[in-house]
This record gives sequence, C-alpha cells and structure tokens, in this order.
Amino acid sequence: ALYPLRRALISVSDKTGLIDLARSLASRGVELLSTGGSAGMLREAGLEVTDVADVTGFPEMMDGRVKTLHPKVHGGLLALRDDAGHVAAMNEHDITPIDLLIVNLYPFEETVAKGADYDTCIENIDIGGPAMIRAAAKNHRFVSVVTDTEDYAALLEELDEHDGQTTYAFRQKLALNAYARTGAYDAAVSAWMTGALGQEAPRRRVFGGTLAQTLRYGENPHQKAGFYRDGSSRPGVASATQVQGKELSYNNINDTDAAFELVSEFLPGNGPACAIIKHANPCGVARGETLREAYMRAFDCDRTSAFGGIIALNEALNAETAEEIAQIFTEVIIAPGADEKAREILAKKKNLRLLLTDGLADPLTAGLMVKQVSGGFLVQDKDSGHIDMDDLRVVTKRAPSDKEMADLLFAWKVAKHVKSNAIVYVKDGATVGVGAGQMSRVDSCRIAARKSHDMAEALGLAEPLTKGSVVASDAFFPFADGLLTAAEAGATAVIQPGGSMRDQDVIDAADDAGLAMVMTRMRHFRH
Ligand code: 5GP
Repeated sequence: ALYPLRRALISVSDKTGLIDLARSLASRGVELLSTGGSAGMLREAGLEVTDVADVTGFPEMMDGRVKTLHPKVHGGLLALRDDAGHVAAMNEHDITPIDLLIVNLYPFEETVAKGADYDTCIENIDIGGPAMIRAAAKNHRFVSVVTDTEDYAALLEELDEHDGQTTYAFRQKLALNAYARTGAYDAAVSAWMTGALGQEAPRRRVFGGTLAQTLRYGENPHQKAGFYRDGSSRPGVASATQVQGKELSYNNINDTDAAFELVSEFLPGNGPACAIIKHANPCGVARGETLREAYMRAFDCDRTSAFGGIIALNEALNAETAEEIAQIFTEVIIAPGADEKAREILAKKKNLRLLLTDGLADPLTAGLMVKQVSGGFLVQDKDSGHIDMDDLRVVTKRAPSDKEMADLLFAWKVAKHVKSNAIVYVKDGATVGVGAGQMSRVDSCRIAARKSHDMAEALGLAEPLTKGSVVASDAFFPFADGLLTAAEAGATAVIQPGGSMRDQDVIDAADDAGLAMVMTRMRHFRH
C-alpha cells in the first residue's frame, strides 16, 4: 500500500511554507507542476517547474476561472494505476499520473469576513481547486492530497519515514480531511448566500469548521469531544490567545464563551465591568470605579459559587485586580489584555488559564445559533436583541428614579445571559441575586432572594443585599406571585417584557407594593 511520489501538482492561494515544501519535494526527485502565481513564486526561488498550461495545452483563461479543469489534470489524478483500461486511456491520451496534490483554495471565507461586495465574493469562489481536491481524494488509493499548510510538515515526515512514499493509511486520513475541506468551503459559500439574499430558512443547510483542539473529554469524562473553529474573527474564546495555564476543557470553553459574551455587553467607555460564570450562568456581574472594585463586587454577589469560576473582564487586567483574583481558585480569566505586572502575579498560579482577546465582542453583530436535537438541529439568529430607554414603557403609577433606571438596564443586560427562567436582582450596578434555570419563575425569584440573604449573613451585613434593589425578569410574570416575592425581598423596581394575560394583575400588585415597573416588550429566553 506504499505509493511513491513522482509528480506533484501545486496550486495554492496561501503561499505560506510553499518554497520550503517545494524544495524538499524537488530534492526527493519529485517533478513539480504548478499554476500561474504558484509557479512564478517557485521559479523565482530557483526551482524547476512545469506550467499546468503546458500540460493541458490551454492557457489559464477567464481571469483564472479555468486553469486546471482539463482531462490531462483530472485524468492524471483519477486514473487507477493498476487498471488496464485506465492505463490504456492514459497512454492513448498522453496523460501522466499526478501522485501528490497540494492545493489550498481561494480565500472565500476571509473575503466574506472582510465585508467584500457580492461580485468580489463570487469571484473568490474557487472552482478548479475543489474539483482537483475531490478527484485526488477519491483516488487516495494512489494519490496524496494536502489541503492545509499545517499538514506540510506531516507530509515530509511521512516521506522520510517511508523512503519517499506514503502509506495508504496516511492517504486515507488526508482524503477525509480533504472532503471536509471542500464540504466546509461550499458550506461557507451557501451560508454567505443565505445571508446575502436574506433567506431565513434555506432548504439545505451545512456547517463547517476546523479542529482547533482535541479535548480530553466532553461535559463528562466518558464523552469524547473536540473544539472546532468556524473561521469567524469575532473576539472571543475561539480567537483568544492563551498565555498561561492548563489546556482548556470542554466546560471551560463553554463557560468562557458565556462569560465573555456577557461582559462584552458593558462598553469599557462606561467603566470597568466583571462577570463571573459557573455552569454557563453568571454568579456575579458588576461595574466598579476600578476593575478591582468591579471584580470584588461581582464576587460578593455569590462568593460560594464564584469558587472555581470563570472570570471575564471588559478591560485589560491590571496588577491590583490580578492580586485580588489570585486569592481564590479560578479556572479561567478572559480579558482584552493584561499588563505585565498582572501577568507576573498570575504566572505563579500555574493551572490558571489566562486568555487574551483582541477587544470585546460586539453584542449587536448578527450570527447563528445551532442546537442539536434528536434527528436534526435547530437554527436561529443569535439573540442580539437590544433595548434603549425609549423602548421602555412605564406601566405603574410610580416611574423609576434615575438610579433605579440605570440598575434596571444593567439587570436587563445580565438577564439576557442567564438561563431561563431568569431573575436578576441588581443594586448600584452590581448583581446581588441571580435565579437561573428554574422551571417556574417564582422559584427563580425565591432562589435569588434566598442566595442574597445567605450572602448578607456570610458578609455580616445587617440586611439582605436585595433591600433597595431592582429586579429583571427575562420573560413576563405569568402571575403576581414572582413579583410579590421580589417586593418582599426588598426590590423597588422591576423590568420585564410584559405580554401576559394577567399583566394587569401584576401591574396592580406592583402599584399596591409601591414598585415602579417598566416593560420592554422584548424577551430574552435562553435555554
Ligand atoms: P495561483 O496563485 O497558482 O495562480 O492559483 C492558485 C489557486 O488557483 C488555488 O487556490 C487553486 O485552488 C486555484 N485554482 C486552480 N485551478 C483552478 C481552476 O481551474 N479554476 C479556478 N477558479 N481556480 C483554480
């Protein structure tokens, strides 16, 4: 099953590592064929190359749309070397076998990411590249196909190990990657067109990604798992640089994503903010005069849960905040930067993972959410719903004070990131109680209030932190009971979507209790 490489076709858009690879191949006696730009570069480097145009007898034409689409190329890739009929056809038509294909495609994904216009995107759809990749991959019994610059080293290693030949197993692995590459490529084209044409639910849908990390396990140790990047450049866990700490786990990545998306709701221009996440839910979110204060106030919401948590910051980590964070066990910190002193302090905590991003994620950018269900998957737009003061309707006799209003908007932003049913108590720009993931809203109200009560006791405070707080509910109160629980806990103002059959009961209860209430007419379920 070993097969020698005599002839290679190289046609690459990303020319990283090209010369080194070609030189290594040439030194092993491999003949090189290549297309325009790639051939030019190899020649410049002093390598001997045959132009594909000389093989096909046709010049590259139509702005490169037609370069390699020719039987001399595809016959050379597809012919079965041990089939008498195929060999006869090769002889008859003067087709020489191509044993190695090195192709990476026109940068379609990058072109879309740059926001290029429709026609430019269309021109960046590679046709000949995927055709050759699919042909070579089909014929992996004989042909090796490399579609990633990262695989060059592995190819050369394989050749070293097997005296200039590749094993069948190696070629199989290359082939399966090659089909995933062309699959992902067409998926990207289709996804782009779906968006460009404003199609909501196209009849067919595929998603592609590239392995970023084989994970030790999934949510639990008996589940296998991997982390895939989809090529978007949005600041976040997938594009962040890990500067220290253990390898990220499945749960780390999931929680870090939740933490960073949440903290990105708070623009750094409005002051430092910190979110602490456990099991994808916030156990504390706060603003502060300083970053350290923001962290400490977030921590004080629920110190018990914050242990082993994931911390996200909306500005670069500084030394005094790092020192404070280092007091307890934390799994991950993600921030748009960290100064040198802060990094020195954290370096002593070998296991702590520190991820640095290139800025914050814009919560308003569009995107898709995919959720697996048995037998299929659900696709929806990312929840980039957003409200301003103007969208709010005061429904009670009393309108919120300015201070209450600021806290209501803060609570609403947090509630969007809490699993439903979500209840969030906030006071002075810090959460003081979070109720998450309950099957009944009133339970979320009670749990959040009880946690806040417990925290006040632990901190030795005279009264629970919910006293004088405001409360946000991610969806309407179906009955007055939840709202009354919040009033009992000491909340003075409420933000909720409204829209319940019993809205009037809830409004009356709020008026009776002297609460101010605003309705958003937008809900933020999150499951
Ligand atoms: P080069 O820089 O060598 O001129 O072009 C390399 C790129 O052309 C590669 O990304 C390869 O996939 C692509 N390519 C090769 N053959 C064809 C073809 O026949 N049509 C189109 N549209 N692209 C091709």
